[in-house]
Amino acid sequence: RPGRGARLPDRPQRATPGAEEAARALPAPSALTGPAPGGFVTAPAPSSAHRLPFRAGAMVPRLVPGCARGFFGRWAARAPPASAEQRAWAAAPRAPVRRDSSGASCGAPPVPLTRERYPVQRLPFSEVCKDDLAAFERLIPGRVVTGPEEVQASNVDWLRSLRGCSQVLLRPRTTREVSGILRYCHERNLAVTPQGGNTSMVGGSVPVFDEIVLSTSLMDQVLSFQDVSGALVCQAGCVLERLSRYVEQRGFTMPLDLGAKGSCHIGGNVATHAGGLRLLRYGSLRGTVLGLEVVLADGTVLDCLTSLRKDNTGYDVKQLFIGSEGTLGVITAVSLLCPPQPRAVNVAFLGCPGFAEVLQTFRTCREMLGEILSAFEFMDTECMQLVGRHLCLACPVRESPFYVLVETSGSSADHDAEKLTALLEHALGSGLLTDGTVATDERRIKALWALRERVPEALSRDGYVFKYDLSLPLERLYDLVGAVRSRLGPRARRVVGYGHLGERPRFAAFAALWPRLRLALGGRVCGCGVPAPPWAAPRVLWGVLAGVPYAPARGKLKGGARPWAAQGRWVRWSEPRGRWGQGPRRPGTLASSVCVPAGDGNLHLNVTADAFSTTLLAALEPFVYEWTAERRGSVSAEHGLGFRKKDVLGYSKPPEAQLLMRQLKALLDPKGILNPYKVLPSRA
Ligand code: FAD
Repeated sequence: RPGRGARLPDRPQRATPGAEEAARALPAPSALTGPAPGGFVTAPAPSSAHRLPFRAGAMVPRLVPGCARGFFGRWAARAPPASAEQRAWAAAPRAPVRRDSSGASCGAPPVPLTRERYPVQRLPFSEVCKDDLAAFERLIPGRVVTGPEEVQASNVDWLRSLRGCSQVLLRPRTTREVSGILRYCHERNLAVTPQGGNTSMVGGSVPVFDEIVLSTSLMDQVLSFQDVSGALVCQAGCVLERLSRYVEQRGFTMPLDLGAKGSCHIGGNVATHAGGLRLLRYGSLRGTVLGLEVVLADGTVLDCLTSLRKDNTGYDVKQLFIGSEGTLGVITAVSLLCPPQPRAVNVAFLGCPGFAEVLQTFRTCREMLGEILSAFEFMDTECMQLVGRHLCLACPVRESPFYVLVETSGSSADHDAEKLTALLEHALGSGLLTDGTVATDERRIKALWALRERVPEALSRDGYVFKYDLSLPLERLYDLVGAVRSRLGPRARRVVGYGHLGERPRFAAFAALWPRLRLALGGRVCGCGVPAPPWAAPRVLWGVLAGVPYAPARGKLKGGARPWAAQGRWVRWSEPRGRWGQGPRRPGTLASSVCVPAGDGNLHLNVTADAFSTTLLAALEPFVYEWTAERRGSVSAEHGLGFRKKDVLGYSKPPEAQLLMRQLKALLDPKGILNPYKVLPSRA
């Protein structure tokens, strides 16, 4: 799917969408339609509709021998045309966007200063003076930006809800320059905010006070590419979409893809440990990043830029910086393993009658598509309404409570099409789907992906967005949306949910056996060294034997300890705490014991309102985090913690882990100059 994304607008324009936006608008929905070389046997169409309801038995997809693609084309051909209102909206001329010094685009409300909206105190860093500017000018001549208009763009976050008041933007080109800048800042005790594409969803990339913004935007060179192994080495400021094109021209693909690809930098992706749309297929960046070059707070260059896949020489130091969000070092170069480009890609966009059917469709996809399943995304009907209303993208299928996007990537078009067709026939026959469309050519694939990828953009045009990015056990994933809707009632404009469904661990079978082995080895569990009390062993054993993987979650241990839902992908038995570190530790209870594999999913819960409201915020938080923690979910599945989520770290990390994080920070950045006020909670 080369070039599927487009550069994101600098900021979402709520009041007056920019002219560039109209030009960038994806093909009108009718573009999804195309020649239909055949393939369907249909029941007679109802007179009022140009499309059939997609009930089981009402329409049976049939593959024409030797013409597998015909089926797909025909299905896609049933997309409804854009409404007159939508066409008019898309065609309307729009004024170019202008911003004032508060980061507001004309007509949009100004973004309030972070320090005024949030209770945060400036730490005792030095303030930038003329001598500092002169020193920076010597280090990077002509690339010290102090003009208020230019600096302002770096002060406001993508969601337009945070604004710092930095007065300096530095744009180094080389690792050496970054090193020189940090050495100077370290000596002078000047705080620095590393910034890539500034698409962070948690306010990690913008200053809170007057931190110097260190942008990687000029560090955009590909350093090497090995066309046998697919190892790519590049500077941290390369835009993800450019890298995608670069490797695709050489027969490879980036293992990472996300809606912000037109703007985000690979360094920013690594720093946030971005998940994205290909995680299901290629795994997380922790696996695909081969090496990193990082500049530490005092200017030391850490060259771990290896391209080796096998390097078992002690601690894997680079992992410290993946997901560190600019608080431990500035990533200056990345070595990444790119998988070969799939030869055949299909995308199906399907309507589902309920979330239970979404889950069942996921399960069926995993069973029937196997290795070619490369993405499984879901969104609710409200998301679809938003992309229709704000981005003028029409739904290509009949309105349904949920929509699912299934992508297959493989090496044989016919083989993949056959598998997908079998899956769709089965899903239709079982009543899992209400309607669907399939695309195989690049243009249509892009159009279908846009419906899912541009949901964040549509949301940001709907009003102020309260964003939550949670990881939860699959079975409970969407329950939270309902719980929040009933809690907020009409106070929220919209409460919507979309996300990615995850996989079971790769070695699930082994993992399922692990607790039994542990118990057999004397009751020590999970490698944490906590012995299971003697009375727990029979029950644990019963739970494990009776129903791996889920049965232990139903039992209850003596002394109040009870099994918990998933933390990531593992169900564990633990103390009944609402939050790590809270509540008494009872002697003799299992602190962290039997782990069995469970599926997890990533829910993007979004609440939109007319404007930021502390009452609404109080209704949402800590409710959302407590709800998640009670089910042993994670309060940040992929966006990180940044500024917004730093104080909720305790819901997902035990105090011991938080302490270790602080110690690491103190070791690598003793003066705390790197991205202060982010990631670590304000209070220990
Ligand atoms: P920035 O936003 O500039 O920075 C993010 C953080 O990393 C900050 O803390 C910053 O200080 C730090 N940082 C940046 N560069 C460096 C560096 N070189 N060295 C050290 N620290 C650095 N995320 C997902 O995980 N999955 C998604 O599917 C996804 N979809 C998105 C869709 C949209 C439309 C948008 C706007 C965002 C989405 N995101 C998603 C959020 C995601 O975190 C970012 O898009 C991306 O990973 C951040 O890259 P960036 O270059 O913009 O980094």
